Amino acid sequence: MNVRDSEVICGLLQKAGYRISATDQDAEIVIFNTCSVRKHAEDRVWSLIGSYKGSKVIGLVGCMAQNYKEQAFQRDSNISFVVGPQDIHKLPVIIKSLQGDSSCKDSSPLLERKIWETEGVLRPEEIYHTDFYQDKNHAFVVISEGCSNFCSYCVVPYVRGPLRHRKYKDILTEIREALALGITKVTLLGQNVNAYDDRPVNFIKLLAQINALSGLKEFDFFTSHPKDASLDFFKAIRDLEKLVKRLHLPLQSGSDRILKLMNRGYVVKDYLALIDSYRKIVKGGLLTTDIIVGFPTETDREFKETCVLVKQARFNAAYIFKYSSRPGTEAAKIFDQLKQSQLEKRHKKILDLQRSISKELRKR
Ligand code: SF4
Repeated sequence: MNVRDSEVICGLLQKAGYRISATDQDAEIVIFNTCSVRKHAEDRVWSLIGSYKGSKVIGLVGCMAQNYKEQAFQRDSNISFVVGPQDIHKLPVIIKSLQGDSSCKDSSPLLERKIWETEGVLRPEEIYHTDFYQDKNHAFVVISEGCSNFCSYCVVPYVRGPLRHRKYKDILTEIREALALGITKVTLLGQNVNAYDDRPVNFIKLLAQINALSGLKEFDFFTSHPKDASLDFFKAIRDLEKLVKRLHLPLQSGSDRILKLMNRGYVVKDYLALIDSYRKIVKGGLLTTDIIVGFPTETDREFKETCVLVKQARFNAAYIFKYSSRPGTEAAKIFDQLKQSQLEKRHKKILDLQRSISKELRKR
């Protein structure tokens, strides 16, 4: 989602007459489009911003901007503008206005004003039609923004707002425009794609309409939520010939108690039944997942339950994360957080397990 947002920002700024420099050293303005999903990602951004030591005009954009708002200026005085994900369409005007001030002064004037925009709710549709795609053969296409699931560990609903669906006609128009540029592959993006709903077009109908577009060779999507997955969804993956036969279905934990604390909306039995149906319907289809180890209060026994499920499910690949407490989320309020050493141990154990399964499946 952030890769696509960065393309949107590049497209908007190019249209406004700015040039994308080959390296940050050549740039007058450096924009950080940021992620808040883990603390580690945030720490890296703070350290990179600090490394410029006042030599550039720095913009903080995306989820960290939304999270920190004007406090970002206190955290690092090098920052000149702070723009949340719902306000990125304002960037050309914000930068022009900073430069406008500069014309009245003699030296380094951009750094004297601070602007922040984090109150936006809706993005204008036009931002998706600047024709800027980094890859000349592949386009990321946003179908929905935000999320209303409120998984207890996740900061996304707070920084990207509630789930909103783009109009299906606009999505088809954007894909047709990309195809006209010579792009042949598309990845549909949303925090929860299979909840897509622009009545009467749901996700399955949208997939069918995209599959019918001439010029398109292949498409896929990220990410689906188990609670919104259905047999019809799996049949669509099987039947639509341009759709990649792969499903990314985040599990997160193999313990029912932890899944409940995470507010995921399913139990282990439901998840296993889903992947069993997927494999029966989409013969040979790939299956990947996300897992969080060390959620607060997770016991050794509950961690072992996740390992058992990983052995049972035999995912082709898994993104495995150590739990990272995000301020403001429900999980951050649970005092019984695990020690870092415990997180490391569990992370390594399950990573090794998944690696051996992935290797074996790849060999086959
Ligand atoms: S589904 Fe859950 S984990 Fe995914 S973005 Fe929404 S709240 Fe976060």
